[in-house]
Amino acid sequence: MNQDRYSRQVLLKEIGIDGQRKLSEASAVVMGCGALGTHSSSLLARAGVGEVTILDRDVVDITNLQRQTLFGEDAVGQPKAEVAERQLRQVNSEIAIRGVVVDVTPENVEGLLSGADVVVDATDNMKARFVINDACVKLGVPWVYGGAVGTSGMVLAVHPEGPCLRCVFPTLPPREATPTCDEVGIVNTLPSVVASIEVTEALKVLLGERTTPELMIVDVWSGDLDKIRVAKNKSCVTCARHEFYRFDG
Ligand SMILES: [Zn+2]
Repeated sequence: MNQDRYSRQVLLKEIGIDGQRKLSEASAVVMGCGALGTHSSSLLARAGVGEVTILDRDVVDITNLQRQTLFGEDAVGQPKAEVAERQLRQVNSEIAIRGVVVDVTPENVEGLLSGADVVVDATDNMKARFVINDACVKLGVPWVYGGAVGTSGMVLAVHPEGPCLRCVFPTLPPREATPTCDEVGIVNTLPSVVASIEVTEALKVLLGERTTPELMIVDVWSGDLDKIRVAKNKSCVTCARHEFYRFDG
């Protein structure tokens, strides 16, 4: 491990040399390679997390360049996961970076996430997050929920024992209740803020530190930052009853 590369975070009492070693032995999976995914995977790779895997099924579109910082014009039309892998190898050749072009489903999610020490959510819909939540609770893997639309976003660190995402959202919200960036837009300063909060929580997981127990809500336009207490639902279908991949209520 090149000590110079990480000297500024080794100096931190929150990380130090022991923490840096833990990061170098850890593996993180980033689910999705849009705005949150490009920022998250870049931060994880730069921090020296030993294994960073990026899962995404899409190709780069010209509308992505406004906010998806690993992509340039020459990447338009290419698979996001492959471009991200290529870019991040240039950033850090001392870690393992893997981009996988895949559509994550309840059938394949456990195979893709098993063995991860933390999963970072960079998807754009609640159905995908319910799939991650179920898989992570079942596999015993901590994960960090993150969403960013318009001018505001949310982050919640989830541990397998709960409270989990379904303690907060017991049923899948109707599609029209959770619009995406494609439908309502997004200010391009938001994803870096939300991804930074997500990755900070992920690093704390990897370092064995206590994560923030509240749901964090940020609005970059108003400057508001709120924290909402989250309680475990003792009859939660996922983290209490362990009934997985039931999204119909
Ligand atoms: Zn739960």
